[in-house]
Amino acid sequence: MAKILYLVVPCYNEEEALPKSAPVFFAKVEELIKKGKISDKSKILFVDDGSKDKTWTVIEDLHKQNPIFTGLKLSRNCGHQRALFAGLMFAKDKCNFSISIDADLQDDINAIDGFISEYNKGSEIVFGVRSKRETDTIFKRNTALLFYKLMEFMGVNIIYNHADYRLMSKRALEALSEHKESNLFLRAIVAQLGFKTASVYYERSKRIEGETKYPLKKMLAFAFDGITSFSIYPIRFISCLGFFIAVLSSLMFVYVFIAKILGNVPVPGYASLICSIWLLGGLQLLSIGVIGEYIGKTYLETKQRPRYIIEKTLE
Ligand code: UDP
Ligand code: MG
Repeated sequence: MAKILYLVVPCYNEEEALPKSAPVFFAKVEELIKKGKISDKSKILFVDDGSKDKTWTVIEDLHKQNPIFTGLKLSRNCGHQRALFAGLMFAKDKCNFSISIDADLQDDINAIDGFISEYNKGSEIVFGVRSKRETDTIFKRNTALLFYKLMEFMGVNIIYNHADYRLMSKRALEALSEHKESNLFLRAIVAQLGFKTASVYYERSKRIEGETKYPLKKMLAFAFDGITSFSIYPIRFISCLGFFIAVLSSLMFVYVFIAKILGNVPVPGYASLICSIWLLGGLQLLSIGVIGEYIGKTYLETKQRPRYIIEKTLE
């Protein structure tokens, strides 16, 4: 029997992009249904992440035209990762597999055929990997590269150039639902779920309409979250630095002590003294800051607040 697909699309202020991308999603899903590759109970699920524009009205209209479109409205803006997670958890009990995709058609919709054939061959997770991203700005490409390298260096298992375009089977979704952390960094969580996985390559194109919903500030916060929720390397780095400075200063102490005994105490240098005070002060503040970040994160996680609140659904 053909399997039920839920195409999960997080949307934040996408009133401009949705009217253009929805027909494309629809055409693809219909093609797959006609070819008998997926069940006719399959759906396109839009998750409105507390948009401030008419996104929800657009989704409601689409649903009225054709109930294959369905929607989930979050009570406020929870961020891309949580919106996607909310959609996946909503789809989990209704579908055999889900595919997550952005609302702006930057990810090649035709890669879905490859996803499904890998799924039929037994993969529980199929990653969409960007082979080229020439349409992204040089800045975005390079900061992204730096980020992947940094994550790798810090021992985080992450798939290079894979964002959140992926297929997940019901089993993988159930495994994902076991993750109770409120700080979601899905691409790394999914990469460490295990199971049989596969990758499908595609070219990334330009945003169809509207502006990016990931300005630099959000991007940096996202990268920082990714690192601190998967790696304790920064804390370890502080310990190593502390150890290194301690060894260095004890050597200095020995040197000064011997110099004093031999009677040739150097003229106390004002510059070097001031420099080391500033350097040590700075390092200490930085170290306390990093440790504070982790403590803050632990504090936020212990509250176990809901990761999202569903305001309305269309089913
Ligand atoms: N998005 C969201 N909540 C947010 C920010 C973004 O649901 O707070 C959605 C957005 O509507 C889009 C996807 O996440 O479908 C990716 O965002 P965008 O395309 O703006 O990011 P970029 O491709 O520029 O990194
Ligand atoms: Mg985009």
